[in-house]
Amino acid sequence: MSTRELPAGIAELSKAELHVHLEGSVRPAIAATLAKRHGITLTEADVQQRYAYTNFNQFIDAFKWVTSFLREPADFALIACDFAQQLIAQNVTYAEVTLSVGVMLLRHQNPQANFEAILAATEPFESKGLRLNWIFDAVRQFGPDRAAEVVDWARLCHSPRIVAFGIGGDELQVETKQFRRVYARAAEAGLRRLMHAGEVGGPEKIREAIELLGVERVGHGIAAFRDPALMDLLAERRIVLEVCPASNFRTGALASQLRNPEPSIRDHPLPQFVRHGIAVVLSTDDPSMFHTSLREEYAHAHAMGLRDSELAQMVENGFTYSFLARQERHKLHFRPA
Ligand SMILES: [Zn+2]
Repeated sequence: MSTRELPAGIAELSKAELHVHLEGSVRPAIAATLAKRHGITLTEADVQQRYAYTNFNQFIDAFKWVTSFLREPADFALIACDFAQQLIAQNVTYAEVTLSVGVMLLRHQNPQANFEAILAATEPFESKGLRLNWIFDAVRQFGPDRAAEVVDWARLCHSPRIVAFGIGGDELQVETKQFRRVYARAAEAGLRRLMHAGEVGGPEKIREAIELLGVERVGHGIAAFRDPALMDLLAERRIVLEVCPASNFRTGALASQLRNPEPSIRDHPLPQFVRHGIAVVLSTDDPSMFHTSLREEYAHAHAMGLRDSELAQMVENGFTYSFLARQERHKLHFRPA
C-alpha cells in the first residue's frame, strides 16, 4: 500500500474509533511480555513473523495464537492499558472497543472478571481525555448457542460501558438467519447491534445482517460495491459501514472481493461508498496485527483520492454514528487535542 502524508488539518482533529478489537491491538513487545508471564519464551521478532498473512484464514490463526497468551484478568488489564496509550497518542478521544468474549468462553475464562480488570485499567485514562465503551463480540463459527451466551454475559456484567453486541469471525460459516434469536435477545437487553459482514462474504451477507438481524453498523461491508441496490439501501437507511483499509489489504479480503490478486490503494471501494452517500466510519480493526493506526488509515483514505472535506466528514461520522448520547458526543468531539 502506498500512501501520502495526511493533511495537517485532518491529523490534528480529535477522532473516534468504532471498529477496533482489543486483542488485535497487542503490540509485539506486549505479546512477548505476556508469553514470559506464562513461562513461554517469545521474541518480538517471533511475533512480527506471526503478524504477516497472505489470506484471511492465516490471519484468524494468528489471532487465535496471540489470544492464547491472554489467560488471566491481569493479562487483559495489561493490553488494555497499552491500547489506551496508543489511542491517546493519536488524538483519539473516544472508542467503542470490541472484546472477543466468545474466545474467552472457549477458553473457559470468566468474562466478568476479565472485563472488570479491563475497566479498572482503562478508567484512569478518562481524566487524560479518553472515553472507552465496549462491544461484546461472539465468534460466528461457534454457532448461535455460544453467541447467546455472550449476550447473557453482557447482561450479567450489567455495565453502562457495554453498549453493543456483535459477531465476527468466519462469515462463510453458519447461516445468518440462525442468529435471529440471539440478536432479538441482545435488543431486549438494550444492546445496539453490529455484525462483521461483506468482508470476505458477498453483498448478500450485508443485506441479511440488516434485514434479518437489524444491525445498525456493518463491520467492513466492502462487498457492497458489487451490488448497487444494496449501496442505495445503505445510503437511504443510514446503515453505517466501518471500513478498515489496511485490514482489507493484509487479509486478502479486498483482493478476493475484486478478484484481483494485487489491488492498489486506488482500487479500494471506500471513495465509491462516500460518494454514494453511505455513512462510513474509518477504523483500524486490529491495529498491531495489521501494522496500522487510525492516523495511517486517514492517510490511506487520502491516498485513495478523498478530499479534505470528505476526510473531515468521516472524522465527524466517528462521533455521529457512535453509540454515545448526543451531549457526550459533542463533548468528546470538540475536546481540544
Ligand atoms: Zn473486525
